[in-house]
Amino acid sequence: MINYRTIVHVDMDAFFTSVEVRDNASLKGKPIVVGADPIQGKGRGVVSAASYEARKFGVRSAQPVATAYKLCPEAIFLPHRFARYMEASNEIIRVLSTFSDTLLRMSIDEAVLDCSHLGEEFGTWLKLGHAIKNKVREETELSCTIGIATGRTLAKMATEIQKPDGLTLVHPGKECTFLAPLAVEAIPGVGPKAKQSLNRLGFRKIGDLQQAERSLLVQTLGKWGEKLFDLVNGRDSDSFTEHERKSFGEERTFETDLETLEKTQDALLQIAAELAAHMRQKNISGRTVTLKIRFADFHTITRSQTYPTPIRSALVLENVALQIFNRNVSRETVRTEKIRLLGIQLSHLYTAQVGEQLWLF
Ligand SMILES: [Mg+2]
Repeated sequence: MINYRTIVHVDMDAFFTSVEVRDNASLKGKPIVVGADPIQGKGRGVVSAASYEARKFGVRSAQPVATAYKLCPEAIFLPHRFARYMEASNEIIRVLSTFSDTLLRMSIDEAVLDCSHLGEEFGTWLKLGHAIKNKVREETELSCTIGIATGRTLAKMATEIQKPDGLTLVHPGKECTFLAPLAVEAIPGVGPKAKQSLNRLGFRKIGDLQQAERSLLVQTLGKWGEKLFDLVNGRDSDSFTEHERKSFGEERTFETDLETLEKTQDALLQIAAELAAHMRQKNISGRTVTLKIRFADFHTITRSQTYPTPIRSALVLENVALQIFNRNVSRETVRTEKIRLLGIQLSHLYTAQVGEQLWLF
């Protein structure tokens, strides 16, 4: 495995309800539904999450809570505690980032990490997968399901095979065999509509798609058909590897040196806003923010901070830049040393993916 790209997809098991059970052991083993108040079956909201015990009764997330109540009136219905789940999610990201700092949080309970560098340390994907699962369980008391493959989409599909507490490996060279028996809707992004179109064309299993000509898929599905052709044939180009460009930045030398904290912060916010506009234009996000500060006497400091998920909003970038600045330069320093140049640089770049939910710590 040492020479292969090793992409690990981690999906927490029944995340919201598992956090509730962790916080209150008396809930263990019971059917639990997190979501709107069912009000004796008259509630109008929906289910956010259901424990595996509740799922046995047919309760599902996104289902009307009144239906869930009808299916399982003895379930324990709990309100949604988003802040608490976010905290737990951050703990998990912290644990995962001890394995790899090329990590992307896909949603509150799902992350993908590039562990290609860990080949020698773990020897096999099986050992690596168990090591991650064990560490997550030891440090957070929560269980997760893992899929490992050579690409991000394949790894996610592997996770879906065995839940909860699963570990599915799609070894290099075995991609086509793994994919062939799966239904076309197992492909992320194939919703009910796409499924229908594919079925109409005679594609029910991914194996059927493997027999198709590239030109047919491109003709009928456009650009996506090209990507689909590669994926079903085991070439997962859906990577989150860093952007070809190493960094991206904006800096400014001032005509007259800045002497007050307010002016400096203003200038910094302006630079951040410009950089963010550039990032948006180029569809780039990045995990590391570096601040460059040059004083009147040309002495220069740079200070960096790396975040677990890429930053792409102007607001977040502005806040982060300001935080780094305030941590490192005092009002007094600005007054006495004066600032000649400010710069913000972004590195660990990613091309933002459409439809991805990214969360900041
Ligand atoms: Mg999950």
